[in-house]
Amino acid sequence: MIEKKYAVLGDIHGNIDALNAVIDDARNKGVTDFVSVGDIVGYNACPVECIKVFRDLGCITVRGNHDHYCSYDESLDDFQPLAASVIAWTRRQLNEECIKWLHDLPYSKSFGGFMLVHSTLDMPENWGYVFDTLAAEAHFNYQTLSLCFHGHTHVPMIYKKEHDTIMRVEPCKVKVSFGPKYFINVGSVGQPRNNDPRSTYAIYSTKTREVEFARVEYDVDSAIARNRKAGLPDRLSLRLKLGR
Ligand code: ZN
Repeated sequence: MIEKKYAVLGDIHGNIDALNAVIDDARNKGVTDFVSVGDIVGYNACPVECIKVFRDLGCITVRGNHDHYCSYDESLDDFQPLAASVIAWTRRQLNEECIKWLHDLPYSKSFGGFMLVHSTLDMPENWGYVFDTLAAEAHFNYQTLSLCFHGHTHVPMIYKKEHDTIMRVEPCKVKVSFGPKYFINVGSVGQPRNNDPRSTYAIYSTKTREVEFARVEYDVDSAIARNRKAGLPDRLSLRLKLGR
């Protein structure tokens, strides 16, 4: 069996500066393959460029809520006004090829001995947020492999289920042993919300069966300059500086 080292990227949100920095970091760490838990577009100025990078990488990815709403002409009533305005802006940037690519993304995928989903496996199309073990419990009923990666909250976190007990483990290095199940939020590449402006992603080695988190500094000022040039709301730029 060929051993692989996967970079698991989530919530890129059109931030090309962050995405390129993360890819460089991953390559320097010997990553062989890229996969993603979705939300490639939305919020920042470069949705088309980020889709192109994903396609060039051959990155296996699932659909995030922003990928969905930016490519389907559905009502944005459930979104906060700021998010809704940026989704409307992103819709205007996407060409037909990008829209088709986003349409074809699955809600979840089993790949390479692990699972990928943006929110949860119980009802992925409902885009539920997992902030506690109660929310993780419903998901675990549908997780058939020992390892599943997700995103959506933009906060890195590990949920572990062992003998019917679910616990939250602070994101650090974790060795995936057979028996327990791990539901791992990989954090966000393009809009971190854990009070740290650096991009976060996870690396999974099939050889050691270890998942570790990587944090990457990128040129936040460049990302902000692109957002301002595109006329996107300044609040989005401020949150990149703060990482929340
Ligand atoms: Zn997101």
